[in-house]
Amino acid sequence: MAVTKGHGNPDWTRDEVILALDLYHTCNGQIPGSTDDRVRELSCVLRAFPHHSQAARQESFRNPDGVAFKLQNLRSVHTGAGLKNTSKTDREVWVELGHDRVRTRELADLIRHCLKIVDELPEIDDEEEFAEGKSATKVHIRRERSPRLRKEVIAKRLKQGGLTCDLCDSDGSKYDPAIRESMFECHHVIPLSIIGETKTKVKDMALLCANCHRLLHRAIAHKKQWFSIYEAKKQFFS
Ligand SMILES: [Zn+2]
Ligand SMILES: [Zn+2]
Repeated sequence: MAVTKGHGNPDWTRDEVILALDLYHTCNGQIPGSTDDRVRELSCVLRAFPHHSQAARQESFRNPDGVAFKLQNLRSVHTGAGLKNTSKTDREVWVELGHDRVRTRELADLIRHCLKIVDELPEIDDEEEFAEGKSATKVHIRRERSPRLRKEVIAKRLKQGGLTCDLCDSDGSKYDPAIRESMFECHHVIPLSIIGETKTKVKDMALLCANCHRLLHRAIAHKKQWFSIYEAKKQFFS
């Protein structure tokens, strides 16, 4: 029998299932075996996921047999036959993307891109994951946490008249001036799915209090849609 799961291998994440679904879409119902080049390529990509470095020491982790088995799982979700092998993530990704090849490809490209441009990414809570997937969410967070960029944004705002949150208008004037600045964080206003590889720019950064930033991220993750500052203000802060 094919070695697919292997002892202690972690469950497939949403990002991984999206990559598998992207391959599944191209197969048009003909599930390739573990010797297929596309299956082997995907196995290599999955084994190189930064957060799987520990698990990838096991030969059985996301090996070609495991990838081929996942494609069969997705067919089960698709056709409804043999559903007992499928995971909750498989079913959720199918509901979201099973009938949208274009969006699946967009997200798969984005995930592959994010894996290439970063080696170390911050850990994030599942509740914070944007619709673009966990890898893209982590890239968003890593970018806006850049201390250099934050310094530049704060300097620019001070020159323009002072620090206030773009969402709630709080200026933190009730706090001691010596520590006040620490309440502000930068938020990247352009969704990663649009900006691709371009460099992060000061003009694309909003200044938010830590509270509003957290709420905005939760709204984006929860509603599975991107909100501009203007939209967020209208929908959640009025
Ligand atoms: Zn605020
Ligand atoms: Zn943000």
